[in-house]
Amino acid sequence: MLKFTDIALENPKKESIFQRKKHFNEIYANFAKQKAQEQASRCSQCGIPFCQIHCPLHNNIPDWLLLTAENRLEEAFELSNATNNMPEICGRVCPQDRLCEGNCVIEQAGHGTVTIGSIEKYITDHAWEKGWIKPIKIKLERNQSVGIIGAGPAGLAAAEELRKKGYKITVYDRYDRAGGLLIYGIPNFKLDKEIVLKRTNRLTESGIDFKLNCEVGSTVSFQNLKEKHDAILIATGVYKPHTIDLNKKKASNVIPAMEFLTASNRKGLNDVVINFDNGRLNCLNKNILVIGGGDTAMDCVRTAIRQNPVSVKCLYRRDQKNMPGSQRDVFNAIEEGIEFNWLTLPTNYIGNKKVETVKALKMQLGSSDESGRRHPEQISGSEHEIKCDLVIEALGFDPENIPMMFNEPDLEVTKSGTIKIDFKSMMSKIDGVFAAGDIVRGASLVVWGIKDGRDVAANIHNYLEEKSLKFIKLPNKDVASVI
Ligand SMILES: Cc1cc2nc3c(=O)[nH]c(=O)nc-3n(C[C@H](O)[C@H](O)[C@H](O)COP(=O)(O)OP(=O)(O)OC[C@H]3O[C@@H](n4cnc5c(N)ncnc54)[C@H](O)[C@@H]3O)c2cc1C
Ligand code: SF4
Repeated sequence: MLKFTDIALENPKKESIFQRKKHFNEIYANFAKQKAQEQASRCSQCGIPFCQIHCPLHNNIPDWLLLTAENRLEEAFELSNATNNMPEICGRVCPQDRLCEGNCVIEQAGHGTVTIGSIEKYITDHAWEKGWIKPIKIKLERNQSVGIIGAGPAGLAAAEELRKKGYKITVYDRYDRAGGLLIYGIPNFKLDKEIVLKRTNRLTESGIDFKLNCEVGSTVSFQNLKEKHDAILIATGVYKPHTIDLNKKKASNVIPAMEFLTASNRKGLNDVVINFDNGRLNCLNKNILVIGGGDTAMDCVRTAIRQNPVSVKCLYRRDQKNMPGSQRDVFNAIEEGIEFNWLTLPTNYIGNKKVETVKALKMQLGSSDESGRRHPEQISGSEHEIKCDLVIEALGFDPENIPMMFNEPDLEVTKSGTIKIDFKSMMSKIDGVFAAGDIVRGASLVVWGIKDGRDVAANIHNYLEEKSLKFIKLPNKDVASVI
């Protein structure tokens, strides 16, 4: 990777720091463009676009790769933006090894994938620099309004698509910033928050009204929103952390992953975070244990290692092959110095007011369970203790109790607490109330949130059009039959 210091040291023209930075940015832009074109031209245009099939948005990857290789960047940008509301974000955070790149024919043939995600990111970063991305221009302002609860990828994608159609949009979020997990979940080193802010600012400039610090169910009632808007979208994500039932006795040094990641992200945004500054949520000079093997656990270990700890260990009860998280993240974590204790099950927290050690058992993999994954079994006599100063539990998330939170018993949920919708219309049992994103799927991915947001926007548009047609009746004929 080219660094500013590489050229800052050579300064034959005695340029100021500002001039040298500008110079660096120019060199870097050329370097990034050259790399993107080099990679894009590796695409074999194989004719069966497995990459496109395996992208949840079915992005037209082969075509925008070809346009990039031919240096037709504005067209590449238009095409890539036609199917994705945040390509530069997906390019950074999608687990491409499981999606587009994992299915690239060149990868399958053993020659290393075309780096689709990096090219996608490059195209839209370049479009921002060139000023090609502008606020949405509305051709027709409609009178109908949509209330969207949740400003994560699903809510934002739906808001953008519906605003393009001319609806009045209000997005309600309990956080103080829009973006959902893009802002307070995914760490800064994977997704610079400036990139998210650029997207949300553009939506504000497009006439979308954000009501932040506004929790539906407490700051405003759900019933109030139903009266105020012609349709409602619930896109609240999943936030209730799984915990392990160990004798934690309210130890102040055992914390859920989101508390830790939110604090670090807030520090990155220059917020005052008292519990970070007083050391409680800070890894400096500590032995850190992260429990879990998914993407969130990987984000925790990689955030922790950046805070100058003494050590960072990850405890997971299965082996590396059976980890649910992205293997790419695991390799990155190993490279950064994280120690993985695979096949290790924590059984007890030991300490007085604070946990000082964690008792754990070694495991072995037995027969496969219903999901096909081999079931971990305990090895007797393998009990051991691991010293720690801070334990971060990263064991997944469940939905909160939305019907109770919204005081809306008619809102049907599944056994796992996700909102039940009609899979075609994406509407819940309540007329005009739709749902999308993690609150329907369970914990998923940004790209699926965007896909659901786009789909639900199309369904809400159909619903509102039908609703407005009902009011325009001609004598003996309704408008629908005359059009
Ligand atoms: C730590 C972490 C790292 C991740 N990393 C990745 C990654 O690298 N790549 C990837 O593709 N996916 C990743 N994911 C998953 C991804 O972030 C989610 O799948 C995606 O954000 C879901 O989008 P959403 O819009 O459904 O919900 P969210 O992003 O969760 O947004 C929901 C919003 O609703 C708001 N809300 C909730 N309840 C209320 C209420 N009552 N009133 C008002 N507002 C409310 C919340 O404040 C939030 O802003 C990660 C998840 C986590 C937890
Ligand atoms: S959105 Fe994600 S899966 Fe689709 S092309 Fe981009 S990086 Fe790949």
